[in-house]
Amino acid sequence: MLLEGKNVIITGASRGIGRGVATVFAKNGANIAFTYLSSATKAKSLENELACFGVKAKGYKSDASNFIAAQELSKSVIEDFGSIDVLVNNAGITKDSLLMRMTENDFNLVMQINMNSVFNMTKAVIKTMMKAKKGSIINMSSVVGVKGNAGQTNYSASKAGIIGFTKSTALELGSRNIRCNAIAPGFIETEMTESLEDDAINNWRNQIPLKRVGDPEDIANVSMFLASDLSSYITGQVINVCGGMLT
Ligand code: NAP
Repeated sequence: MLLEGKNVIITGASRGIGRGVATVFAKNGANIAFTYLSSATKAKSLENELACFGVKAKGYKSDASNFIAAQELSKSVIEDFGSIDVLVNNAGITKDSLLMRMTENDFNLVMQINMNSVFNMTKAVIKTMMKAKKGSIINMSSVVGVKGNAGQTNYSASKAGIIGFTKSTALELGSRNIRCNAIAPGFIETEMTESLEDDAINNWRNQIPLKRVGDPEDIANVSMFLASDLSSYITGQVINVCGGMLT
């Protein structure tokens, strides 16, 4: 029960990695406020699943890319839960294409949802964390933000931006005992990756020393470490969780 009594916000937890993080956190005693954009039925079923662990759990329909919505969400969570100890900025999308074919709209949309959401949500929680003199913020970057990837200029720019934001936030808020770290997942099996061709998946797998793709629990376990007091001397770091792909 490493997170017993901690109140956590996770963005984009109706499925995939966010759902995995919510489940592992709840198993470890955290109360979970999570968001989704359109998957209302999946969100309701997650709320019920999490409540079975004896914790408080509530889903909020909230667009993480909208600044005002992030402020309103934070206010509602404080009203409902009392405080915010941990923020996991997980919501994200892809709109892949080669740069030659990428539209301005697809570039801006990915930046808005992946990168601006991290700014919006971090701004929305830091006042309450500063008052409490503690907090842990975990931002979901990607190995693609560290090394780049053909066909993903928009996505890799957003994920690299998250790394810069994470390090700067850690420098600004360290003296307030607020930690901020990023996780760079490798290839994780979720709805985000299921549309890829078998050849592309095999190509990724061949580059992974552990010879398997990851699953949401692999990311959730590292998130739990960063959310817990076990990592109380770790801030401003990027942890690659990629089966050794970036070695
Ligand atoms: P996913 O299965 O596609 O799930 C995305 C989640 O984000 C869903 O819960 C979705 O909600 C939510 N979401 C999307 N746009 C949103 C918005 N504007 N506001 C609030 N919620 C929003 O993706 P995933 O694979 O779990 O990825 C989660 C994070 O890990 C992303 O940031 C992704 O970039 C990162 N990541 C993934 C991989 C991978 O291999 N899967 C690798 C590296 C990094 P709805 O269900 O309501 O649409």
